[in-house]
Amino acid sequence: MKIEYSVQPIPCSTQPIHYNSSLCIGCNRCVAVCQCDILMPSDKEGGTPIVMYPGECYYCGACVMACPRPGAIELRHPLMNQAKFIPTKNKC
Ligand code: SF4
Ligand code: SF4
Repeated sequence: MKIEYSVQPIPCSTQPIHYNSSLCIGCNRCVAVCQCDILMPSDKEGGTPIVMYPGECYYCGACVMACPRPGAIELRHPLMNQAKFIPTKNKC
């Protein structure tokens, strides 16, 4: 029995996962390893996966580590998470 369904990615202000479709071979290892089920296989054989729920990502990096093709998937942390607190010379 064939089941067909259609879904749309949920829009979000953060875009944690970026694919490079010229490097991705569509093996879906990144999809399988994500414990939050954020990623979904492409509907095309060997296609780049789809980021379905970008707002649910907790930036564990497992998808990037599972990828056999360096550069095919990139994790981009939100700007506020990239901030670093550094000590100042002047003490109040
Ligand atoms: S960083 Fe972690 S939670 Fe986010 S998509 Fe990759 S595996 Fe899933
Ligand atoms: S693990 Fe890498 S090569 Fe495989 S589908 Fe994901 S991004 Fe593409």
